Amino acid sequence: MHNIYDIVGIGLGPFNLSLAALLNPLSNINTKFLDNKPEFSWHPELMFGDAMMQTSFLKDLVTPVDPKSSFSFLNYLVENGQFYHFLNTDRKSINRYEFQDYCKWVSKQLCHDIDFDSKVIDIKHDGEKFEVIKEGGSYFTKNICVASGPTKNIPDCAKPFLSNTLFHAKSKQMKTLDLEGKKVVVVGGGQTGVETFRNALNGMWGRVEKVTLLSGRNNLQPLDEAPFTNEIFTPEFVLNFHSLSQEQKDSYTQSQLLASDGNTPQYLQEMYNELYLDRFYLKKLPDYTISPMRWLNEIEKEGESYKLKVDNLLNQNKEIIEADIVILATGFKSVLPSFLEGLSDKIAKDSQGRIIVGQDYSIQTTIENGKIYSMNFSRHGHGVADPQTSLMSWRSAMIANDLVGETKYKTTNNSESFLSFFN
Ligand SMILES: Cc1cc2nc3c(=O)[nH]c(=O)nc-3n(C[C@H](O)[C@H](O)[C@H](O)COP(=O)(O)OP(=O)(O)OC[C@H]3O[C@@H](n4cnc5c(N)ncnc54)[C@H](O)[C@@H]3O)c2cc1C
Repeated sequence: MHNIYDIVGIGLGPFNLSLAALLNPLSNINTKFLDNKPEFSWHPELMFGDAMMQTSFLKDLVTPVDPKSSFSFLNYLVENGQFYHFLNTDRKSINRYEFQDYCKWVSKQLCHDIDFDSKVIDIKHDGEKFEVIKEGGSYFTKNICVASGPTKNIPDCAKPFLSNTLFHAKSKQMKTLDLEGKKVVVVGGGQTGVETFRNALNGMWGRVEKVTLLSGRNNLQPLDEAPFTNEIFTPEFVLNFHSLSQEQKDSYTQSQLLASDGNTPQYLQEMYNELYLDRFYLKKLPDYTISPMRWLNEIEKEGESYKLKVDNLLNQNKEIIEADIVILATGFKSVLPSFLEGLSDKIAKDSQGRIIVGQDYSIQTTIENGKIYSMNFSRHGHGVADPQTSLMSWRSAMIANDLVGETKYKTTNNSESFLSFFN
């Protein structure tokens, strides 16, 4: 007889780690979380020394729904003897290294609930239970929670050229990068694009001949983290937003791009100061161009180098940019993972082919016994907070409560927003 879990989580990034941390103290819940990596790591290809979290450290894996949890960031600091020193840094934000190390520390304490080196390849349902199939074994479970992360977004014109000299920023090539003497183009002006550009300019991977940053946006635009904007990163907003019509949700989400995808304002300030000091005093940086309002349309390869055909969206000029190395910081898209393909005829989709995720974060399916919860697949359903860490502990609490059929964690704070969006 197989062990039948209450829930198996697929993918152990911060989102499922948060769920694992909330489910761990609950009695009579049998869980397992699977990840293909050998240990916890967080976007290691993009772990730059100057990269800061865009979210407060208090919005960690557990604190907003369980401030007494031993898996909090504050407890991590205390247990590691860092508490007073951390306070002396006088920072509101933490570095991505710090966040990764904190998550790794939590994952070590939850080691009995986690199987690393476990790549899930298929999932079946026999009418009673799920079978989660990994390379070399299976797990049987009543429910699953899919949080395997989004898929890289690659522009169509770049797809035929993917190689060691043209690749997405979240790729293994970033770990062995050598840009010495190269003409480099970074495509995409979101935070990853700006960080890649700045680190290339500062010689992290050798001294470039030239580095160009192309951004389709109107400018290098700051993250909108004003207090009223942040009211949309609250449980009450998300719960109300979820019940709007799809057209209303799509239109609002589109308008709030900078609330989630802008550049960290302090980062822009520091980069600008660096450029200023270099232009007028230090004169050491290699050649660079920052080009907003540019859209990459076509790529040609000539010998070992690329010709990028780019539209200037402001004056409608056509431009050609030469590159030896092209790094695509073109973001991510939400695509149903391949291991769910076997169940796809049981999964409901909207008119645009997107999965439909309920308020409790379970996917609408025709499966009668058992739920497929999902995290980071419902920006279109739950709004701009969905791919962010901002509400991750609340989202996990919603799933934990639904799974056990009881309010184990408080998911509403019963306080009205300062903004009357819905009444
Ligand atoms: C560089 C970067 C910085 C970010 N910084 C912030 C920030 O500061 N604040 C913020 O709010 N958001 C940030 N985000 C957005 C978002 O919070 C992160 O992408 C976050 O990691 C999403 O968590 P996740 O658990 O959904 O997925 P991921 O962190 O992508 O984790 C998914 C895990 O699933 C594993 N996996 C995939 N397929 C399988 C499989 N078949 N079998 C087993 N395991 C599998 C992967 O290896 C991975 O370990 C950032 C995103 C990036 C890319």
